[in-house]
Amino acid sequence: MPGKDSVRIAIVGAGLGGCAAAALLQQAGCKVKVYEQAPQFSRLGAGIHVSPNVMRVMRHIGIEDRLRAIALHPASFMSRDGHSGQISSNFLLADAAEKRYGAPYLILHRGDFHAEIMRAVHPGTIQFGRRLVGLDQERSPVCMKFADGSQDEADLVIGADGVNSMVREILLGPERPIYTGHIAHRSIFPRSRLPAGLQLDDCTKWWTDDRHIVVYFLTGRRDEVYFVTGVPCPEWPEDVPNMPGSLDALRADFEGFEPRVQAILDACPAVSNWPLLEREPLPLWSRGRVVILGDACHPMKPHMAQGAGMAIEDAAMLWRCLEEVQVAAGEYGIAFQRYEASRIERASRVQKESHDNVWLRYPSDPSWCFGYDVFSEPIRSGKPGTTIKEQAI
Ligand code: FAD
Repeated sequence: MPGKDSVRIAIVGAGLGGCAAAALLQQAGCKVKVYEQAPQFSRLGAGIHVSPNVMRVMRHIGIEDRLRAIALHPASFMSRDGHSGQISSNFLLADAAEKRYGAPYLILHRGDFHAEIMRAVHPGTIQFGRRLVGLDQERSPVCMKFADGSQDEADLVIGADGVNSMVREILLGPERPIYTGHIAHRSIFPRSRLPAGLQLDDCTKWWTDDRHIVVYFLTGRRDEVYFVTGVPCPEWPEDVPNMPGSLDALRADFEGFEPRVQAILDACPAVSNWPLLEREPLPLWSRGRVVILGDACHPMKPHMAQGAGMAIEDAAMLWRCLEEVQVAAGEYGIAFQRYEASRIERASRVQKESHDNVWLRYPSDPSWCFGYDVFSEPIRSGKPGTTIKEQAI
C-alpha cells in the first residue's frame, strides 16, 4: 500500500475479524488503532472450528504453529441421526484434510483462539472501553465519537463491530438483525463429568429435522467437552445478547435422542442460551472512507462454523485490495469496491448454506469452502464478473 505510513486506519471492534484485520495491516506497515467497547475480554464459554481456508490466514499472520500446538486435530466430522444414532456421513479431517487442502482443520476454545490473534497485534493498539456512538465523515479526516465523550480521527474506518454494528447503522440506518426463530445452547465442561467408558468421537453432530446438537472436544488432550445446539424457539427478547439457560428445558428439548446425547446433557453443569441472528444481504459494504466486514455486514446462523471464518477472510481480502491502490492519493474507494465485489458472492453462499443447515449431514464435497485461498483468489474489479486483470486487457 504505497504511502501506508501516512494513512491512519481505525478499526471498530476487536473481535476475531477486527483483530485479524489489525494484524494483517500492521504487518504491511500501516498505522492502526482498534477501538473496542468491552472494558476487557473474558474467556467466553464457546468452542470454534478453524477450517483450512481460515488457517491459511493464520499462517500469513504467523500464528499457525501456536494454534496447532493448543488445538484438537479432529479425526472427522461425524453426522448421526438424532434418534437412532446411525451415521449418515463421516467426513475425514486430520491428515486427510491437511493433505487435501494444504492447511489443517483445528478445533479449540474460542477464547484461546481470540487471545492468539490478539497477541499478533502490536501491544497498545487495542483501546478497551471505547464504544463508538457516532461518525462524521463529511469532513476529512473522519471524526469518531465514543460513549465516554471522547473523540478521535482517522483517514479510514473499518467497522468490525459485529451483528449489532453501529458502523453499519451509521452507513445504512437503524435496522435490527432478524431473529431466526432458533436459539443455540452452549456449554463447556470437563470430560471427567461424563460417565466412565462413554465413547465419544472427536466431533459429532446429531440431527433431526428441526434440531441438532454438535458435541466436540476442545483440546488435543480431549479433556474438555463443548456442545452447541440449534433448537426452535419462537421468541427472543430484543437486545438481550444471551442468557443463562434451564438444564431441564434443554434436556426436554432433546428427549428421545440417542442415549449418549442424554448422558452428555445429564453431565452438563450449566448452559447459556444464544439467539441465532441473520441479516438480508446489504445494499453496500462501504461509503466514503468507511467500510464494514464480518458479522457487521453478513451475520449468519453458525451451522457451517464459518461466521468468524468469513470475517477473517474479509479482513484478508480487504488488506489485499488496500495494498494494490494509492490510499494516500485517495484511491481507497476503488479498494473498497474491489473488496466488496471479491467477497460478496462467497459470503452470501456461506450465509445461505448456513441458513439451510445441511452442511456435512450427508456425504458431500466441501472443497468449495475449505479449499478457498483468499490470497490467490482473483481480485474483482467491481464491474460484475470481471477481475482486475481482465479489466486491464
Ligand atoms: P464479533 O466477533 O462479534 O466482534 C465484534 C466486536 O466489536 C466485539 O468485540 C464487540 O464488543 C465490538 N463492538 C461492538 N459494537 C461496538 C461499538 N459500538 N464500539 C466498539 N466496539 C464494538 N464462527 C466460526 O467461524 N466457527 C464457529 O465454530 C462458530 N460457532 C458459533 C456458535 C454460535 C452459537 C454463534 C452465535 C456463532 C458462532 N460463530 C462461529 C460465528 C462467529 O462467532 C461470528 O461470526 C464472529 O464472531 C464474527 O466476527 P466479527 O469480528 O465480525 O464480530
